[in-house]
Amino acid sequence: MLRQQGLLAIAAVLALFIILHLGFPPDAHGPRTTGTTMLGGIAFLLMTASVVLSTRLDLFEELFGGLDRMYQVHRVAGTFAAVFALVHFFGVPKDLPEGMDPVANALVPSAPLGMLGLIFLVIGLFVALNRKIRYSRWRPTHKVMALVYVLVIGHFMTAPAIFFERFSASGVLLIIAAAIGMVALVYSLFGMNRRTAVPFTIEAVNALERATEVVLKPVGDMIDFKPGQFAFVEVQGKGWSEPHPFTISSAPGEDRLRFTMKVLGDWTRKVREELQPGGEVMVRGPYGRFDAARAAGRKQIWLAGGIGLTPFLSKLRAMQPGDDRHIHLVYAAREEQDAIFLDELKARAAELGNVTLIPLFSEEGNFARVDKMKENLPDPLGTYEYFMCGPKPMIDGLMKDLKKEGVSRKSIHTEAFEFR
Ligand SMILES: Cc1cc2nc3c(=O)[nH]c(=O)nc-3n(C[C@H](O)[C@H](O)[C@H](O)COP(=O)(O)OP(=O)(O)OC[C@H]3O[C@@H](n4cnc5c(N)ncnc54)[C@H](O)[C@@H]3O)c2cc1C
Repeated sequence: MLRQQGLLAIAAVLALFIILHLGFPPDAHGPRTTGTTMLGGIAFLLMTASVVLSTRLDLFEELFGGLDRMYQVHRVAGTFAAVFALVHFFGVPKDLPEGMDPVANALVPSAPLGMLGLIFLVIGLFVALNRKIRYSRWRPTHKVMALVYVLVIGHFMTAPAIFFERFSASGVLLIIAAAIGMVALVYSLFGMNRRTAVPFTIEAVNALERATEVVLKPVGDMIDFKPGQFAFVEVQGKGWSEPHPFTISSAPGEDRLRFTMKVLGDWTRKVREELQPGGEVMVRGPYGRFDAARAAGRKQIWLAGGIGLTPFLSKLRAMQPGDDRHIHLVYAAREEQDAIFLDELKARAAELGNVTLIPLFSEEGNFARVDKMKENLPDPLGTYEYFMCGPKPMIDGLMKDLKKEGVSRKSIHTEAFEFR
């Protein structure tokens, strides 16, 4: 679930900027200049938030409730930045104040830098939000946003004082934000977070029904993770391109790391068809805050749709007999054959005693539905804590119906298997 702290931190910086900007405007600035430069400043601060979030630092995961949530905020902040930048562009006074030399003004690069920044921002945003573009193509093009950020800094730092007073109260805040943003940009752009990558060798590649289990043996230390967390998997060797995120499906105490990958596109197909034991893999993580053990509620409903089982698989594999939670695991798959690890789940549920497994197969007309849960669960829906992972339409539908039944949003935890 998206945590409030991170959003409040962004809101606090924006509020501080607005107070400083409106409270201490330079004498030479008319109301229109003050208003439109404020919008430009807000756009820049939102871009900075977006850049800072792309560092994937652990601290921000804590503030926002996980990397997937950080990427959601990254996307929304970027979109609003573009909207504010456009309004700033159309609203900012175009006529030069009296006494201003037009030739001297034309020599200042601020306007062309701003214009270029805006054009790239709008194109970049169009690309960023376009889900039809394949991820492997999308990722390098998204890097154009780094250029936009630098152009925007150039735009306001070279702006004449009649538009931007560098050493005004709000100007200093923007300069501090630019310094932080540039450090964050260099950090993410040059992949410094990759330094935390841990080497593994491939021990086995097991073909499952429409999925592949990859078993990894640590070269040195095993990574430290909690059930439900995910990591970026980067196969070493030619043609394997970028790292891909996968939930760790093994339990923390195991001496091997396991990922279960549904065959969805080029990369996951290549894993199934070409990945060989003995190869090298770098694993970067763990990330994510999909942690059912931390939740206050002891009565939990786990809803897994298809490959969305993986976080629950790790949780079940890690669970010890005597766990005081009461768990209903609803596992929705197309048909029994598609329900990977079903036998293991049944055996674990029988062994643990506190887990009720409810497999549902859509081919048999059984779907995960809130009205059915209401009928069959021993207690009212509002008394449970919900953890859901699966296809977006399924999660959105269940969430809507749970809210209709009065279940608090705070009791619903979801894991999205996509960042875009
Ligand atoms: C937090 C998280 C946990 C995940 N856990 C699992 C899991 O346990 N099992 C599983 O089967 N799948 C999981 N996924 C999904 C998995 O990452 C994608 O299915 C896989 O990367 C698809 O790659 P592809 O090239 O085969 O398919 P494509 O057809 O290229 O991509 C399919 C989808 O995956 C996204 N995607 C592709 N490449 C990347 C990438 N490098 N980084 C981020 N997103 C990408 C695309 O945006 C697209 O929506 C998880 C995703 C996330 C974000």
